[in-house]
Amino acid sequence: MTYRGRFAPSPTGPLHAGSLVSALASFLDARAHGGSWIVRIEDVDAPRTVPGAADDILATLAHFGMHSDSLPVWQSERDAAYAAAFARLQAAGFIYPCGCTRREIADSLLHAHARHATLAYPGTCRNGLHGKPARAWRLRVPDGAAAVVSFQDRWQGMQSQDLATEVGDFALKRADGLWAYQLAVVVDDADANITHVVRGADLLDSTARQIYLQRCLDVPTPAYLHVPVVNNDAGEKLSKQTGAAPLDRHAPLDALVQAARHLGLDVASSLSSISSLDTFYSAATAAWAQRFAR
Ligand code: GLU
Repeated sequence: MTYRGRFAPSPTGPLHAGSLVSALASFLDARAHGGSWIVRIEDVDAPRTVPGAADDILATLAHFGMHSDSLPVWQSERDAAYAAAFARLQAAGFIYPCGCTRREIADSLLHAHARHATLAYPGTCRNGLHGKPARAWRLRVPDGAAAVVSFQDRWQGMQSQDLATEVGDFALKRADGLWAYQLAVVVDDADANITHVVRGADLLDSTARQIYLQRCLDVPTPAYLHVPVVNNDAGEKLSKQTGAAPLDRHAPLDALVQAARHLGLDVASSLSSISSLDTFYSAATAAWAQRFAR
């Protein structure tokens, strides 16, 4: 197997202690397997993209000693690949147009909730638009036992999600015309021959959808490892919205050692001997390999 891993930041702001943990974990896993590691800038959601953030992230990664093994991939340049995958799904009858507004979906979910049903998209437009204009395009998920997607997460253990009751038919093309994150990630990982996905546990909930979509597109399913997210003092996931401070480019070692500790890596005992990025990465890769690459 030729290991290929990736770090896929959304350029919505500078790297912070939380995104550093995902970057470091994916980088160490690739190194521990003697594999390659690429950076993908997830700017498919143009309205959320902050000008300059992608370059800032790439510069910070470089200061921290993490270099993409090939040129970074930019989702904003991959429209044709997403359109081709979408066309294949459409030809195979996997997707359908949906005319529901957010409001309508919320209302029907409220009703469903009152009846103790689940919070999945209720499939209103599965069998036709009922005279409404098409807004989004959704992937039809199976019913019954076929809707259950299970996978072994290398950190979190066995995971299982019932797509029919927990998610419902999900959007691949959004009402604003943009490709949905789920489609872009699956197409990008497949085109880059990604064998191992290492990322934050906030994406655990998206994984079953992505695996199901891989099956529809007949592309391989990578191995998954979801690392615990970093929370702020109030217990919220660290993000720009919850006040995460940008990393200090001039003090990479402190932040890296802290990120390694969050990952439970025993680099602390040799901390005094960690005086350079090289010694940090040797110690951290060895510690990671002991846990995840034996
Ligand atoms: N762009 C996503 C994020 O920054 C990560 C997607 C992924 O790793 O699959 O949260």
